Amino acid sequence: MALIVHKYGGTSMGSTERIRNVARRVAKWVRAGHQLVVVPSAMSGETNRLLALAKEVSPEKMTSEAMRELDMIAATGEQVSVGLLALALQAEGVRSVSYAGWQVPIETDSAYTKARIERIDDARVRADLAAGKVVIITGFQGIDGEGHVTTLGRGGSDTSAVAVAAAMKAAECLIYTDVDGVYTTDPRIVPEARRLTTITFEEMLEMASLGSKVLQIRSVEFAGKFKVPTRVLSSLTDPLLPVAEEAQAGTLITFEEDPHMAMEKAVISGVAFNRDEAKITVHDVPDRPGIAYAILGPVADANIEVDVIVQNVGHDGMTDLSFTLGRNDLAAALKILRDQVQPHIKCREVTGDDRIAKVSAVGVGMRSHAGIAAKMFRTLAEEGINIQMISTSEIKISVVIDEKYMELAVRARTRRSSSSSRKPPEAGPHLDARRRIRALALET
Ligand code: ASP
Ligand code: MG
Repeated sequence: MALIVHKYGGTSMGSTERIRNVARRVAKWVRAGHQLVVVPSAMSGETNRLLALAKEVSPEKMTSEAMRELDMIAATGEQVSVGLLALALQAEGVRSVSYAGWQVPIETDSAYTKARIERIDDARVRADLAAGKVVIITGFQGIDGEGHVTTLGRGGSDTSAVAVAAAMKAAECLIYTDVDGVYTTDPRIVPEARRLTTITFEEMLEMASLGSKVLQIRSVEFAGKFKVPTRVLSSLTDPLLPVAEEAQAGTLITFEEDPHMAMEKAVISGVAFNRDEAKITVHDVPDRPGIAYAILGPVADANIEVDVIVQNVGHDGMTDLSFTLGRNDLAAALKILRDQVQPHIKCREVTGDDRIAKVSAVGVGMRSHAGIAAKMFRTLAEEGINIQMISTSEIKISVVIDEKYMELAVRARTRRSSSSSRKPPEAGPHLDARRRIRALALET
């Protein structure tokens, strides 16, 4: 008997019929002798609907008091889900009880709309499990030190589930979703896409930070910090699939590199792409100490995260500095730079470009292979794609290119590397367009 955490996403919980299927699946695991804690998301579309209501009432920029209310509103979506799932399980003949975050409690800080989990008290949950019940806990929400309801940021149910699994030292955290694992590529762009049976924690972290929407990045951080065995798998398979089979499905996030596996492993296990970024260039700034700080300091003070930063070699005492940031922050950042920074540093011009895309190759295998970057650049050169920015880490290379070449870049790379032994994609029409997997195929 093992303690297992299941997480079900919005699509998996999308209708009462689907919730009944979730109940059948959970009941099957219980009958196989396991203790189950289940963390569901709100029904698909529900969080958007709730936040749109809030926006109708309060279209202006949100104060911190208003943000508190946003969390109060958004947290209700998950509360409906847990209650419905508990009822569905009871109808299946399985004893179950549902809890909101504050009832557990899942304690967080007070950063409304993006709170961080600080502590989970598992006493109540353990008592219920010992009494033979399935415990169902709302994803996405918690409670702060003053008793205010908080939420963990969009996609936060993944993090709730992994955090609960960490706190309870669960044997495994199964993240059920509308795709059947982590793919090397978006199968709709690249037909050679295939599912990875394992991915290392570091690769998954890079993928999540690079724009793959499979898991919320904080959940991957939690999984890494507490070594929670985490598996991404489909909730759209037959709910009565034998447990032994289901336990091997999807993609498992691993923590140690098995030397045998590492030898066979592709140098690059995937490519992520991100169209949610924009680029700002500050032209002709004086090339002297303190300039990067003068430019990026006020941007950081406005809570705007920047990503790739490039400063050119100086010429005639001048240089250009470019950086990428979230597309939603472009207008605000341009305003800060033009109004507050430009008059000080006396640069010639500040320009913004929101038609860029970032394409990144990820793989722990890169560590031990030279020349990966060169191969990537050659491929882009052969397609006549201009690279605007480059950034690298030990296991990742990212390039910023014109958005219109993004799919071409990805396809080109995959064409070059596709081998005959590759299996055809298993992904079918069940791939939900809204949650497309953005991990792209690229093997070297
Ligand atoms: N319901 C929340 C959202 O839509 C949390 C989640 O689904 O993970 O962002
Ligand atoms: Mg999600």
